[in-house]
Amino acid sequence: MILAPLGLKVLLTPQARNSMVYDGRPPCCGNATCVPICPIAAKYDASVHAQKFEQLGGEILDQAVAHFVAVDTQGRVTAIRFKRPGGSEHRAVGRIFVIAAHGIETPKLLLISRTDALPEGVANGSGAVGRYLMDHPIQLSWALSKEALYPYRSPLENAGIEQFRNADFRRERAAFRVAVGEDGWSFPGTPPPALASELIKEGFRGKALREELNYRAARQFRFAALIEQLPDPENRVLPAWDNPDELGIPRPRIVYDLDDYTRKGLAAARELHDQIFDAVGVTFRKHAEEHYGAGHIIGTYRMGNEARTSVVNAQQRSHDHPNLFLLGSGAFPTAGTANPTLTIAALALWAADTIRQDLAG
Ligand SMILES: Cc1cc2nc3c(=O)[nH]c(=O)nc-3n(C[C@H](O)[C@H](O)[C@H](O)COP(=O)(O)OP(=O)(O)OC[C@H]3O[C@@H](n4cnc5c(N)ncnc54)[C@H](O)[C@@H]3O)c2cc1C
Ligand code: SF4
Repeated sequence: MILAPLGLKVLLTPQARNSMVYDGRPPCCGNATCVPICPIAAKYDASVHAQKFEQLGGEILDQAVAHFVAVDTQGRVTAIRFKRPGGSEHRAVGRIFVIAAHGIETPKLLLISRTDALPEGVANGSGAVGRYLMDHPIQLSWALSKEALYPYRSPLENAGIEQFRNADFRRERAAFRVAVGEDGWSFPGTPPPALASELIKEGFRGKALREELNYRAARQFRFAALIEQLPDPENRVLPAWDNPDELGIPRPRIVYDLDDYTRKGLAAARELHDQIFDAVGVTFRKHAEEHYGAGHIIGTYRMGNEARTSVVNAQQRSHDHPNLFLLGSGAFPTAGTANPTLTIAALALWAADTIRQDLAG
């Protein structure tokens, strides 16, 4: 109601969380502890399918670090070599190989698998592997409202303002979506225990401490605007050959910056947040001066129709190696503004159909 005069609408955010009993897992009970993991398994996580895989006879090896993708002279992947604690060497062999180590480790693994025959690494005929690294840089803004809003009663983000994801302004500056937080000031770094410590330092004790803690925690709210970032080939992941880890595998080196287009999007988000704070009526407000990362690692093995300019096709199959699939948001050619994981899942299901057909063939 407060936002309607500003022409703003708050919409529900799609979520991988049960609202009713499903697949043997209970509905969400709203304890607001979804990160890092839902304690009652109402929120989906990878352990759901890991268990199903094992029940079907699949074998999962933990503490196994892939470090080399072997390719034969026909361009088919023949093995993935991996190391276990202590440095012992092993090989995974098969007919079809899927790498899903996310947007930094997948390209790093491909790039360190270079040989005389593939001097630029595996799946890298285009030279695009590791390039076009994107995230959704976040403009975080937080405030204390005059009235109690009572956060911490649901998952951390249920809703957002979606109307700035696309319009003519994109000729000038980046789009964004605004995630409305339900986690008080946890994201800016002051969850209730930290707030209690601050209040104790300010001299609050006993009943006064409890009352002040309740008063402030009930009024904390924040917005996180996820800003679009353009695919820039200079933003990239490279193997740090001079900086190996304990197993002797190069760590990733990240080259990453924001351009003016994205910075203008951050500024527009701050302005919008201020308009909302004015409309709500707040007693305190703050905008993060530097952007936060969203952990949405996008673009480093981009999908496309042409082998010359992209790494995988729409089925997530490598253009260069027909029995290699690369899953995850590294395949997104552009970042848009939406949180990536449901799209990752959709593309993975699509790839799975293709893999099933390949195996049947
Ligand atoms: C704080 C935070 C909040 C997020 N919130 C959201 C959200 O609200 N909505 C949303 O859609 N997305 C969100 N994301 C993004 C989401 O977490 C990712 O999109 C998703 O986890 C990607 O899944 P994945 O399986 O591709 O990669 P991952 O989950 O990263 O899995 C990759 C796996 O590969 C393993 N691995 C890596 N290298 C190797 C190797 N060399 N050998 C063997 N194994 C290897 C890793 O150990 C890991 O288990 C968030 C991310 C962060 C960090
Ligand atoms: S709020 Fe989050 S952690 Fe709590 S039950 Fe719901 S999904 Fe699980």
